Amino acid sequence: VKAQGRRYVHAPPGYVCPACELVAGRNPAGEATTQADVVYRAPRALAFVSARFWPNNPGHVVVVPTRHYENIFDLSGTAALAVHLLAQRVALAMKDAYACGGISTRQHNEPAGQQTLWHYHVHVFPRYPGDGLYASDSAPTTEEERRPYADALRRSLGAPAAAEG
Ligand SMILES: [Zn+2]
Repeated sequence: VKAQGRRYVHAPPGYVCPACELVAGRNPAGEATTQADVVYRAPRALAFVSARFWPNNPGHVVVVPTRHYENIFDLSGTAALAVHLLAQRVALAMKDAYACGGISTRQHNEPAGQQTLWHYHVHVFPRYPGDGLYASDSAPTTEEERRPYADALRRSLGAPAAAEG
C-alpha cells in the first residue's frame, strides 16, 4: 500500500498492548476485558465483546488483527482483509444472536479521532430503530453483564474453519 511509510504513533513508551495480550491468551493487566470476552479466534484476527456498552446497543464487539498495528496508517492489507472478514462474520452472527435491526461499524485513529486502544480495531455495533447510538455515550460493564452476549455470539459463530484467513 502506497500510503504506508509515514507512521503516526501515540502509544506511550513501554506500552503493554491489551489487544496483543488477548491474542497471546492472557488477561490484559488493569483492563476489564478477559479471555471470557473473546468470541472468535481466526488465524489473523480476533473478536471480543467490548468492556463498555452503549445504553441501547449492549454487546458490541471489537475486532483486532492478531499482529500489532497501531492504526489505519500502518495497517497491512492482509490484516485489513482479515479484520473486515471477521467483522462481517461477527455482523452476521449478531443478526442471529441479538435479532438486531441493523449493524454499524466504527473505527478511530489518533487522540483527535478518540482512539484509546493503541492497536488497530473495528467496533461492530448492533443497531435498533431510534437507538441514539451517536448521541449517547458508553459505560463500563461487569463480566456478568457481558457473559450472555459473549455466549450467544459464540453459539452463533461456531468454531473457526481450519483454512480461514
Ligand atoms: Zn497490540
